[in-house]
Amino acid sequence: MTRFFGRHHIAIPGPSILPDRVIQAIGRASPDIYDPELAEMVHGIIKDLKTVAGTKEYASIYICNGHGVWEGSLTNLFNKGDKVLVLATGIFAPGWGGFAEALGMDVETLDFGKRNPVDTETLLERLSRDKKHEIKAVLVVQVDTSTSVRNDIHAISKAIKSIDHPALLAVDCIASLGCENFYMDEWNVDVMIAGSQKGLMTPPGLGFIFFNERAREAGKNVNLRTPYWDWERRVNPEEFYQLFCGTAPTHQLFALREALNMILHEEGLEQVFRRHGIIAEAIWAAFDTWSSKGQIEMNIRDKHSRSHSVSTIKLLPPNGTLLRKWTRDHAGLTLGIGLGMGTNDDPKSTGYFRIGHMGHINPNMILGLLGSIEAGFEHLGVARGTGSLEAATKVISQT
Ligand SMILES: *Cc1c(COP(=O)(O)O)cnc(C)c1O
Repeated sequence: MTRFFGRHHIAIPGPSILPDRVIQAIGRASPDIYDPELAEMVHGIIKDLKTVAGTKEYASIYICNGHGVWEGSLTNLFNKGDKVLVLATGIFAPGWGGFAEALGMDVETLDFGKRNPVDTETLLERLSRDKKHEIKAVLVVQVDTSTSVRNDIHAISKAIKSIDHPALLAVDCIASLGCENFYMDEWNVDVMIAGSQKGLMTPPGLGFIFFNERAREAGKNVNLRTPYWDWERRVNPEEFYQLFCGTAPTHQLFALREALNMILHEEGLEQVFRRHGIIAEAIWAAFDTWSSKGQIEMNIRDKHSRSHSVSTIKLLPPNGTLLRKWTRDHAGLTLGIGLGMGTNDDPKSTGYFRIGHMGHINPNMILGLLGSIEAGFEHLGVARGTGSLEAATKVISQT
């Protein structure tokens, strides 16, 4: 429990910080779900979600978290026994693949480890051996929230197209939508899934599936399809209630409306991407300086493969856990736990911590966060290079 009052900074990689305006948007009486005003607001939200995703095609909204749209995307696209290729760069794509397996699909995984992005050469080699086109889809995450790797989705898409392989490309952008550049149509992504609680600054509870005509065609008449997840009814509703297969998640929608106003109609999407880029650079500058000496390491070494929304940091166990406890109790800062990085020596990933830097954040918050981490390192006696805060402030000052 914190002994230091003042506004607490929750820097876990989701749920992310809710803007006060989003919290206030939730605090109102229930609307009439038959009021045309609500339907109008939802149509505006769908239009705006497509803009954030970079698509002119289809968007469906579900009352669920990210795991829900893992399942929903699969049931709309596949038959039992269909083969998918999972590109693993942490725990999240394999998690999606695990759902496919549980649904009776044939899952093959290419594992790129925990410190590197997908290697397109390896992917190409595997796809070119698939002469009979048995692989129906490639499943990958843009950002893996456990390792903080960022995959080059455009390069993956180009690789698949370069050999005319017909596999669908399905991308999990749950940790990156509204943070990282992503242009669904331009990059030929067929299916993209996301949730409300990370870059979109809205409480957990809404899941999104974006899909194009090719995916819609591929999914026609598949035998895994179930009524609740069926995207046809959601993009082609005869009645308003069919958009959500039941009662609309009214207050989640009020929250999302406000968040999308901020992202698209006030700050602007490209500026939102830019802000995340600058903040990520400031964090990297600090950690690259700290790690010049001693025990600290950024999990992803190559800057081009580092996420702009989350960073995974490696220390000596159990310093990740001790640092988290110290900043929470003494600095009003909650950092993310190490996730899925366990080894035989450190099965619970206590040597790791993560910083969520997605959504409603600005340089002031991040410089405070880095200062609090520095104080925690000092308290714990973590060996490190000096000049990190100067390095971070330099990045900020140059913008
Ligand atoms: C958070 C996350 C999920 C899971 O989302 P839940 O809302 O916790 O079910 C899936 N994939 C990625 C990349 C995530 O970051």
